[in-house]
Amino acid sequence: MSSSMLVDKNSPYCPGCGHQSITLGLAKALESLNFDPLDVILVSDIGCCGLIDPLLACHTIHGLHGRACALASGISLAIDNPKKKVIAIQGDGGATIGIAHLLEAARRNFNLTLIVNNNQIYGMTGGQFSGLSSEAFQTDRGLTDSFTRPFDIVEIAHKAGANYSARIIAKGDISEKLKIAISTKGFSLIEILEVCPSYGVQKYSDIEHLGYLEKSFVNAYNAFALPTNSMKPLINRSVNNGTSLFQHKLSKNVKLILAGSAGEGIQSAAELLAKAAMYSGLHVTKKGDYPITVGTGFSVSELIFSPEEIYYTGINEPDAMLIISQNGFDYVKSRIGENTSVIIDNAVHYEPMNNISFAYDLKAILGKKNAAICSIGLWLLMNEPFPFAAFEKAVKESKHGEKLSAVIEKIKIIFDEIKLHA
Ligand code: SF4
Repeated sequence: MSSSMLVDKNSPYCPGCGHQSITLGLAKALESLNFDPLDVILVSDIGCCGLIDPLLACHTIHGLHGRACALASGISLAIDNPKKKVIAIQGDGGATIGIAHLLEAARRNFNLTLIVNNNQIYGMTGGQFSGLSSEAFQTDRGLTDSFTRPFDIVEIAHKAGANYSARIIAKGDISEKLKIAISTKGFSLIEILEVCPSYGVQKYSDIEHLGYLEKSFVNAYNAFALPTNSMKPLINRSVNNGTSLFQHKLSKNVKLILAGSAGEGIQSAAELLAKAAMYSGLHVTKKGDYPITVGTGFSVSELIFSPEEIYYTGINEPDAMLIISQNGFDYVKSRIGENTSVIIDNAVHYEPMNNISFAYDLKAILGKKNAAICSIGLWLLMNEPFPFAAFEKAVKESKHGEKLSAVIEKIKIIFDEIKLHA
């Protein structure tokens, strides 16, 4: 088969494995629907079906076992682009483990297609039954009176709200059937019965004896479903409908780490800074990092501001670090790079370094709750990546905006003092 979607024609699967037929069918379906490989995001699960990753030219992400649908749901929501196609692929084992994620994706009608490769067994771990192994298959393997009834994942998806759900057999060219699922707007599920010659059903003709029938459902009226875009508010994509209220000065991205302790308002302050950057027309990512016990220990927020869309949200070497307390410093100090500029509270103990651009009694003067906002304000005034007024607006609009107006004034006074002594 010649396909621009299929980059590696060498099968990594055992000879005769049904995954090969599904891989070829998927590549053909996507190509025939004219998808650019870069518009397709395939999220694969643990198991032999996850060997598909390097075979296709599209984006591929390998998730935790049973979580491919959850990961794909997050990606679909975050991308929120009808031109992009998000596909999750799981085995029957992974689909059983993560069945709650499928229910939620169907209920909320997330815009993605879940492909369930059902060969009746966990292939990678040696052929154990899954929640989708048919009674006939279990009986055939010697379970005469203790078999468990399998989930009918197609019915379940339909009743939970999937716009389209179907069961097919991976015999011959399945691309046309896959195209129906892939073309569905909203959530679609397609369970594909196939063979695992090494541990499971060995011949396609034997699938007929498993008691499964091909079937499909379309949800004309979906009692549970919400429109996909009703989830948008969960993702803070834009705060100004695309019109910048302020003008930024960035020609490239800036990476900043704000580090302090639980209870110092680190995450809230970072949120305000992110909002201010968005008011200034910048793209922003914000990532919180703190221990599972959120009321104790360090609290760190990583932000990237960029005039361009941000495709990688990690920070290798930050441009700036704002350090409020010892906990945060101890957690992030190893990430201070040669060119990282540091604003730090005087109460923090550290070895002498050249990176300190400003040290001040932030907490002693402004109190533990306001030091983070103050350090952000000073960093903005000193570096002017975007106007301080944008931050002032975000702070004023916040829950404690009125109380924080005094902090905003204090930041300006401190900055004036710095300028005087410069
Ligand atoms: S063990 Fe089974 S499922 Fe895994 S690659 Fe081999 S035939 Fe396919």
